[in-house]
Amino acid sequence: MVAVARLDNAPSDAKSMAFWLGTRLHNEPSGGVRDQMQGGFSAQPGHAERSQSAPLMRIESVGKRFGGFVAVDGVSLEIGVGEFFALLGPSGCGKTTLLRMLAGFETPDEGGIWLDGKNIADVPPHLRPVNMMFQNYALFPHLSVEGNIAFGLKQAGMPKDEIAARVAEMVALVRLQGLERRKPDQLSGGQRQRVALARALARRPRLLLLDEPLAALDKKLRAETQAELVEVQRRLGMSFIIVTHDQEEAMTLADRIGVMNKGQLVQVAAPRALYEQPDTRWIAGFVGDINLFEGQVMSQGDGFVSVATQAAGLLRVAGGVEAGKSVCIAVRPEKLSLSHGLSSHDNNAQPGEVLDADYLGGLTRYRVKLAGGDVVQVVRANAAGNDIPFAAGQQVMVSFAPEDAVVLTQ
Ligand code: ATP
Repeated sequence: MVAVARLDNAPSDAKSMAFWLGTRLHNEPSGGVRDQMQGGFSAQPGHAERSQSAPLMRIESVGKRFGGFVAVDGVSLEIGVGEFFALLGPSGCGKTTLLRMLAGFETPDEGGIWLDGKNIADVPPHLRPVNMMFQNYALFPHLSVEGNIAFGLKQAGMPKDEIAARVAEMVALVRLQGLERRKPDQLSGGQRQRVALARALARRPRLLLLDEPLAALDKKLRAETQAELVEVQRRLGMSFIIVTHDQEEAMTLADRIGVMNKGQLVQVAAPRALYEQPDTRWIAGFVGDINLFEGQVMSQGDGFVSVATQAAGLLRVAGGVEAGKSVCIAVRPEKLSLSHGLSSHDNNAQPGEVLDADYLGGLTRYRVKLAGGDVVQVVRANAAGNDIPFAAGQQVMVSFAPEDAVVLTQ
């Protein structure tokens, strides 16, 4: 019962345990696949070291076609126990389809999904210890907060007194005390969202799948709810997979982010690594803003390459790519410095002219036209000591440190 013991809130009495186990797979893993998995999973803890060594879920070469269209294409991934994982990608890239396969609402055409070492291909959705919270998490309008949260527990035949205890626990978890008897139309958007979360968590799934759960909330409420979601996930120690379009949300919530494009999982990394070390030009451009300089490696040594670029001349950047290769130098807007005179970075300084400056409160965003004609984006924090702004039409030097750029070969 290793998996049960890991969950902080696992029930201790016999009846609850029987119900709890009923929501789980019948066979605990024994040796074999689980042992292999323990060797194979390398967690990258993010906000806290929550991920443990054995994966909860293993997704291997999963594919799904709709007619001739490939919606999910050979996705392999491991999700850790207690991990908060985000799937990020443009509209139509296959995020929801992948989630639906994990929940059992779609059947993969290829590959397999293992949970706690057991292949769950033949396990119907209601018997998987997995729950899915949809984007339009329609609450039952005729049922109260309590009624909505209790619904799945009644369906599962949980004894009445245990339902009452579980509902009270869930109400406290999502901080809805005092609102138990209200109907959904007597609640705010954020409160409705919390009822939906409580309902999704009531049966204590091992894995909760969330498909754009915060999409309907305004910016401020969304930020508050993100913090609550992380807190609930931490307290329960459950694994969450969230689908989102919003990269800031993915970075705020997740230990690791998987970026999908055209059905494929193109990079999986902790938020910082994904932003600082994107694998490809496409990922660099999708996750945040980026300046790209195409060029050719002239020489390499001591952990640096010299790259001849059309837009910015010879650039020296940390990296190791052999001479002659075509590459792209990627620099984030906040890694570019602006100065009125000579730059402190001898290697990577370019004269330019400020085209425009957008004051955004904490930051100012500049567009600067380099001498070669390319336009770069520079972001500067309006921090103490950084208070002399640059204005449109000014001549400036744009520069960056060799360690602050990435050399991309794809
Ligand atoms: P969004 O962010 O817009 O929700 P997504 O990444 O979640 O997009 P999916 O909903 O997984 O994308 O859809 C992936 C692709 O598969 C889309 O092109 C979609 O039109 C297609 N698709 C999804 N479900 C079906 C279906 N039942 N029949 C046919 N095509 C489908």
